[in-house]
Formats: sequence, structure tokens, C-alpha cells
Amino acid sequence: MKPLAKNTQQIPRSGIRVVMEMAWKDPDAIHLEVGQPDFPTPPHIVSAACEAAQAGFTRYTPAAGIPSLKKAIVTSLRAVHGIQVDETRVTVAPGAIAGLVSAIVALVDPGEEVLVPDPGWPNYTSISLLNGVTPKRYPLRGKNQFLPDIKELESCVTRKTKAIIVNTPSNPTGVVYPRKVMEELVSFARKHDLYIVADEVYDRITFNLSHTSFQNVDSEGRSVSVFSLSKTYSMTGWRIGYVVGSAEIIQMMTKILESTLSCSSSVSQKAAEAALVGSQDSVGEMVAAYRHRRDRVLALLKQRRLYGYTPEGAFYILIDISSTGMKSYDFVKRLLQEKKVAAAPGETFGPLSGDYVRICFAPAEEELMTGTERICDFIQERSTCTNGDAG
Ligand code: PLP
Repeated sequence: MKPLAKNTQQIPRSGIRVVMEMAWKDPDAIHLEVGQPDFPTPPHIVSAACEAAQAGFTRYTPAAGIPSLKKAIVTSLRAVHGIQVDETRVTVAPGAIAGLVSAIVALVDPGEEVLVPDPGWPNYTSISLLNGVTPKRYPLRGKNQFLPDIKELESCVTRKTKAIIVNTPSNPTGVVYPRKVMEELVSFARKHDLYIVADEVYDRITFNLSHTSFQNVDSEGRSVSVFSLSKTYSMTGWRIGYVVGSAEIIQMMTKILESTLSCSSSVSQKAAEAALVGSQDSVGEMVAAYRHRRDRVLALLKQRRLYGYTPEGAFYILIDISSTGMKSYDFVKRLLQEKKVAAAPGETFGPLSGDYVRICFAPAEEELMTGTERICDFIQERSTCTNGDAG
């Protein structure tokens, strides 16, 4: 038989999923590898979906989303970020991931290049490869607070570069880009005539800094901003995200969504509408809980002399494991075997984070603290070992 499609074969497996599958085999394992809030979806959101299903709201919807949800998105964007757009500038998608895929398909042709962050969410690479687009990593270095350096970005641009993917607040670093950096990125994109695909799914989960949307910084329509209800309202399984951009790009993306996915789930759209128009108290409560959990993790890392930096958004932190001399995949496998804790290997986010593991601080507090203690123990035991060997 002929070989399967090349684009699909090239895609690396996500290290997060690899560890998750290993950890599922052990019922006692503590899961700090996946970005999943432990809160249930707030009850008023669940009720709206149940009511919609019972009322027979169970058919196909317009590809770009039901008008009442689009209206709720427009109102929410104005209230939360001061973004002034009308409904033609918004499309709903079955999760931010579908928004990201359709943005890349709409903007970048096969054979062209897209700049992706290193470290960055692994799906940016796989989405690009699936579409015959070449991902080129640009560095986010620890010594530069994991922020992009425009000089280094310049050296990644070629004649084929068409777009740059930017993610703030960032997964896996938790870094929130200051407005100045976003302005520099917009100037850089203008200079090289690039599109910006901005992954802003953690826009509402910030601590001491607030998130600026690319829609507030870019006045030319060269950026699309991708948002999600997954993390903000603890709705990962409902699969609703949305994208904001110029009417022309949004129209193109809607065509792609229509051809590949028809539309987002009708009942999930009703749930999303209830989330956006209803009380936002649960968002504040969840963010306060994440802040508390982050602070406890930071205090522990400081106490164990493993503190590196303070994440100001999302719910992830990279922990430096270089003192162990181990590669991150090897580290997470042994950590799981010996300490029963699952963490994400830094290498899966790009070569620059090979000396780190990522933990998610969204899980329940007791589990989180026990897991983090065990990671600290493991690093220190292994560092002692290495030092001993060296001596
Ligand atoms: N973008 C980033 C940076 C993420 O971390 C995730 C999920 O973990 C997504 C996008 C996907 O979000 P959604 O559930 O809306 O597809």
C-alpha cells in the first residue's frame, strides 16, 4: 500500500499527552501535566445548555455562530478589553484550536513559513505541519523574562515568512507581554508585512499585570485574536472559542470552518452565551484560587531554593531541572515511576525549554502541593546524586 500522507507523518506527538497516557495507568498518580481547571462549569451555564437541549435547540447553526452568541461576544469584548468591533469581525469556533487552524489555513499557503514561539504550545508546530506550512521557532529566553527579542526575531524572517504566532498570557511560561512588547511586535510585523495570529485564550487569567489584546494595538487589521471559553469558565469539554479580526479574514475563516466543521455545537453555543452575559463572579473566584495556588507553589520553590521567576498569567510555571543533568523526557518518566507525579517535559514546548518541566497549578490545592513537594525532592535528590558522581 502507498504510504500515508507525509504532512501527518511529520507531526510529533505531544509530550503532555505521552506523559498523561503513562500516568493514567497508575491510579495513584498526581496529575500536574495537563492544563485543566479542577472547577466544575458554573451551574447557570450548565442549566442554559440543558434548557436549550430540552427546547429542541439541537440542529445545525450558522457556521460563524448563532447571532445571540456573537452579540454577547461583541459586548463582552467591549466590556473586558475595550475592543470595539461589530459582529462581522467575529466568528465562533469549536474551541480556540479550531480558530487557530482556520487562521493558519486562511493566512498561510503551503510552502510558506510561520514563526512559532520556543518555548510554545506544541500544537502551533503540528497545526503548521498539517497544512504544509513550515514552522520556524523564535526564541523566548529565560534571561529575557521569556519575552521575544526583536533582533532575534529579525534573524528568523525569510522571503517565505507569512505570519507570526504570539501567545500571551503564555503557555508554558505564564508570562504576560507588556503593551510595549506588543507594540514592538506589531511594528515588526508591519516592517516585514506579516500577519499576527494572537493566541489570547488566557486573557482573563492574569494576576498582577493585565492582558492587552492585539486588537487594541494593531490598527491595520493584520492580526487575528483567538479567544476561548475553555479556561475562563472551566468549559474545556464544551468546545467553544471565538476569533476577532478584519471582516475579510473572518469571512475567509468562516468559509474554512463551514467546509471542515459545519458549525460549533448548538447547545454549547447556548452555554457560552449564558457564560458571557451572566454573572462573572465565578471567573473572579477561579482566578483568585489560581493566584493563591501560584503563590503557594512560589513560596515552596523559594523555600527549596528552586525559585526561578513569577508567572503573571495562565496557570503554568516552568521549573528548572538543569541541576539534575537529566533530559526533561527522562526526568518526567522517572518522576512518574519514583514519585508518582506527572509533569510536562520542557522539550515538548521546543528545544529551548529542555532544561525545564512545566507544571500546571490549576489542580486542587492539596494534590498540587503534594506533587510540587515531590518534584522538589526529586530535583534535590538527583542534584545531590549528580554532584556526588562528579565529586
Ligand atoms: N491555546 C493555548 C495556549 C492552550 O493552552 C490551549 C489549551 O490548552 C488552547 C489554545 C486550546 O483551547 P481550546 O480548548 O479552546 O481549544
